[in-house]
Amino acid sequence: MVVIDADKIAKRYNRTIAVKSCDLEVESGEILALLGPSGSGKTTLLRLIAGFEMPDEGRISIDGRTVVDVANSVWVDAEDRGVGMVFQDYALFPHLTVAKNIRFGLHGVSKSERQTRVEEFLRLTELVGYADRYPHEMSGGQQQRVALARALAPRPRVVLLDEPFNGLDPSLRPQMRGEVAEILRHLGTAAILVTHDQEEALGMADRVAVIRNGELQQIGTPEEIYYSPTTAFVANFVGQADFIPGIVDGTEVHTEIGVFPRPPDLPAGPVKVMIRHEVVNSKPGGILATVEKREFLGGEILYRLRLPSGATIHLEQRKPMHWRVGHQVPIEVLLPRVVAFPSVASSEESL
Ligand code: ADP
Repeated sequence: MVVIDADKIAKRYNRTIAVKSCDLEVESGEILALLGPSGSGKTTLLRLIAGFEMPDEGRISIDGRTVVDVANSVWVDAEDRGVGMVFQDYALFPHLTVAKNIRFGLHGVSKSERQTRVEEFLRLTELVGYADRYPHEMSGGQQQRVALARALAPRPRVVLLDEPFNGLDPSLRPQMRGEVAEILRHLGTAAILVTHDQEEALGMADRVAVIRNGELQQIGTPEEIYYSPTTAFVANFVGQADFIPGIVDGTEVHTEIGVFPRPPDLPAGPVKVMIRHEVVNSKPGGILATVEKREFLGGEILYRLRLPSGATIHLEQRKPMHWRVGHQVPIEVLLPRVVAFPSVASSEESL
């Protein structure tokens, strides 16, 4: 069941188009990541759904109820939308204990139910024993869990998370992401997670919406976004990729790393071909590429290789092979896993 339905939502600030006619649907229990570079409109879109901003155009419904519809002058205030919010700075009340922070949003709930709910969410967020502490007496990760408990205690159908892991030490983020995802799935709460961190989006979300200049570029599962990006921007922004030139010739695409079938929707003419690092292997008898740079990354060595045309691609070597700069390595590229894009000169598609 769709619990967040945004239809042709648009917002501009003076001459800046922050969000450009966005359509977005989130199912109950689904985690959708809104991923894009800084200034791409992620926070604006989240604030429009939360009810902190009024769109210029469009309609949003939450849990089957229209909360804003510009054409029909419908508007529901943020506090009446039944949406939980978690902000990057946690926004906890410093003068209230953990238990009182969690209890804060529980209006219209009986006193005994409020107590039960606080205990339930202390348990769920593993904060039993911290009820009487104040936010400043807790670590960043614990404060983050209080913020989550406070947002979820009223049992909203929808929770909006704005860069919620930014304040945490990078080493704590993967564990915290896992814990938050588990709690959201356990409760069946739909969530929109705003992030500029592709690892966070791919690792935590059921679907990822990539946004650029206020425009949704692609919405899909993490695998679809990573392996089948529909624009060169998505290909470049999500994961590591190199691009080499190619040319469409009849039913084939010709490149210096080989020939592969032309995808049905690819126009004739020059193309750029996306090659992810992991689809390049060393293979005896392959194309000879020259080592330009070698970077030891611990579990693997990343080699930057120059192809005969001068284009560069990368190879991740997991075996302890040592090739010096200038060495010639025979390589193959797994052609079924490359993706071709029209080679447009306009700034729209530039990387
Ligand atoms: P993101 O969250 O992806 O970093 P934002 O939604 O914050 O992006 O911003 C999108 C665009 O809208 C940016 O160009 C930003 O400068 C502009 N913007 C956001 N909020 C305001 C505001 N209150 N007034 C004017 N411009 C704004």
